[in-house]
Amino acid sequence: MNKVLILGAGGVGRVVLHKCTQYPETFQEITFASRTKSKCDAIVADVKNYPKPIRTEKVDADSVPELVALIRDVQPDLVIHVALPYQDLAIMDACLETGVHYLDTANYEHPDLAKFEYGPQWAYQEKFEKAGLLALLGAGFDPGMTNVYTAYARKHHFDRMDTVDIIDCNAGDHGYPFATNFNPEINIREVSAKGRYYENGQWIETEPLSVKKTFDFPGGIGPKEMYLLYHEEMESLVRFYPEVKRMRFWMTFGQSYLTHLKVLENVGMTRIDPVLFEGKEIIPLQFLKFLLPDPASLGPRTVGKTCIGCWIHGVKDGRERTYYVYNICDHQECFKEVGAQAVSYTTGVPAALAAKMILTKTWSGKGVFNMEQFDPDPFMNEIGPFGLPWVETFPAGQEF
Ligand code: NDP
Repeated sequence: MNKVLILGAGGVGRVVLHKCTQYPETFQEITFASRTKSKCDAIVADVKNYPKPIRTEKVDADSVPELVALIRDVQPDLVIHVALPYQDLAIMDACLETGVHYLDTANYEHPDLAKFEYGPQWAYQEKFEKAGLLALLGAGFDPGMTNVYTAYARKHHFDRMDTVDIIDCNAGDHGYPFATNFNPEINIREVSAKGRYYENGQWIETEPLSVKKTFDFPGGIGPKEMYLLYHEEMESLVRFYPEVKRMRFWMTFGQSYLTHLKVLENVGMTRIDPVLFEGKEIIPLQFLKFLLPDPASLGPRTVGKTCIGCWIHGVKDGRERTYYVYNICDHQECFKEVGAQAVSYTTGVPAALAAKMILTKTWSGKGVFNMEQFDPDPFMNEIGPFGLPWVETFPAGQEF
């Protein structure tokens, strides 16, 4: 009997839950837990055609004892963690204590430091290995799908990859002057941090949003400005593909988003250190999150598409070639299927498929793994029917 425990009833949690219920032969029993149980109940109420009742629970995922008690009671084979990156280590500890496999979609972040790195989680390698357990890190779209795209490219289309550019475009419009498509706190921390890219064995830092390029996106999206950011999948990809000479990550932003962000930064609203307000300590970014639209509420009003993929240049059979692999996802189609917009959908679908890979033992191992360490073929074969079809092209003579 395959049982899963899904943690986190946000936009991504909604998608993961819906996707798991679409495959009841693999996900035979599901428990859905989060900080606010009513949010789990509301999402479960939308699920149709799952043959068993879905249990919901309240849990504080920052508390290892609470997690351990819940996991002991539920006895899942796998914990799918789609709460927040702050909880990664607590949930990994609870999985070790209870002997359960672990999966997440974002690397650990300390609440007081906007720092994105796998180090603290890679440090669990020996513990998971000794316990005979698997921890799969970064199993969303980026990180996640983009790591699998890169592994697939290397396996089938390159003898050597020289440059990898990960390109993330959200051409959706939610109609608000300013809102974020996933957790505002995590999103703003990521975007307002310094940019960083990898070249010839070194990380090169850039000022936040200071490097930009225009890219003509496929799928009817057209040309958009995109900005160089640091993104966590680059850390694992340069580790597992040391041949790559340059790796960069790009994300598109509209002018309204950037102007609002600049103003919010200038007035101190994106600060993550506590400030004393009328005798009470508050963290400006957390207060801003409270004021902004809940990303989960953007679903019904977001129109347009996302396009995320990898543009890779390298050598195959002695000849240089360029390869571009991507997915196009339509916000309204996602909403019709699972009641969430495409940013949550593109994260939750790979997470659910990665969970299926683990439960069916298609992917197995002991220790802490990133997505690119497993055979990409079964994942690439299934991800299209699972909800995220992909397109590959070999753009001739096009420099990135
Ligand atoms: P949301 O903020 O919408 O949802 C997070 C959920 O986690 C909320 O339901 C929240 O509860 C719950 N939660 C927060 N803290 C705790 C806690 N201590 N204990 C229990 N539950 C808690 O975020 P998203 O759904 O947008 O994102 C989920 C994850 O996916 C994040 O880690 C994010 O970084 C990651 N992500 C990854 C992407 C990728 O491509 N790899 C892309 C986008 C997101 P409450 O509602 O009560 O606050």
